[in-house]
Amino acid sequence: MISMFKPKRVIFEEKALDYKMGEDLFYKFKDEDVEILYSKSGRITGIPGKDSSQMYGEGKNTLVVGIRKSLKFESCKPSAHYQLPIVSGCTGMCEYCYLNTQMGKKPYIKIHVNIDDILNRAEEYIEERKPEVTIFEGSATSDPIPVEKYSGALKKSIEFFGENDYALFRFVTKYTDVEDLLNLKHNGKTIIRFSLNSETIINRYEHKTPSLEERLLAAKKIGESGYLLGFIIAPVFLYEDWKKDYLELINKIYYNFRDLELKFEVISHRFTKRAKENILTIYPNTALPMEEDLRKFKFGQFGYGKYIYKDEDLRDMKEFFKNNLTDLFGEHSINYII
Ligand code: SF4
Repeated sequence: MISMFKPKRVIFEEKALDYKMGEDLFYKFKDEDVEILYSKSGRITGIPGKDSSQMYGEGKNTLVVGIRKSLKFESCKPSAHYQLPIVSGCTGMCEYCYLNTQMGKKPYIKIHVNIDDILNRAEEYIEERKPEVTIFEGSATSDPIPVEKYSGALKKSIEFFGENDYALFRFVTKYTDVEDLLNLKHNGKTIIRFSLNSETIINRYEHKTPSLEERLLAAKKIGESGYLLGFIIAPVFLYEDWKKDYLELINKIYYNFRDLELKFEVISHRFTKRAKENILTIYPNTALPMEEDLRKFKFGQFGYGKYIYKDEDLRDMKEFFKNNLTDLFGEHSINYII
């Protein structure tokens, strides 16, 4: 069982202490067995580590309490209009994680104390697009749940969007500390998706994340709380017993959630050359399947290409998920399978 995230060190950006949340967190951590550091300039230094693996591990144990300076939101196509920048980084250590290439060598977790400014800015974006509905994604560069008890950012965001007729909010998580999100006034405006995988893949690659059973239990609480609920099955790996394992997963979901309307997103494993290099410096002995010869190279939108499964394998995988999900949950439950 994954217990609550307790950082080894907390770095406060100096200006964050001018905010009530920053001040409260300072007094909270001051009395605990946690190293406290400060950053005057906003540059984050003081995270130790002699080699890539150590720096990575220490980064994952570091919480930065800071300010979101830029209030220009990144776009988040195709699933949402904007990223909502409430948290960056994640305490998990999934070997394949897309954040491994994005967060630098010491991937600390950062929360923003100026959440009110962030939500006010979201309001402006909503006004600009009215009467169209604007969708915000809360987990584009993070898993926000492990630090929610420190930031309260999801709670605020869920209630903020709950009151707005022209906005929707969504985020995805592998984590299970959802108690603070139950019984909020979400008004059906937030969809929470849980990221799942076969137990083989969870045990092999998703270090420091909750088990499948724990995730399903948390999803159940979220569903019972009236939220829209979805599952992301990703990344799907085509290993020897993949059909048996993923069928077991789909059946478990059915068994637990047959009465709810669910949405599924299914994403096959892919990697870029850069991601492979980064993963190999952090996990030199990784068993992740990243042999270029066994994949098809696909040019990407942003000028770099990725290695996806070969056409025939991908067809097989898509058919498998389409048939099994349709059988149990209906065709309308599938958002996409890629
Ligand atoms: S839980 Fe998600 S964001 Fe966190 S390390 Fe794993 S894949 Fe990355």
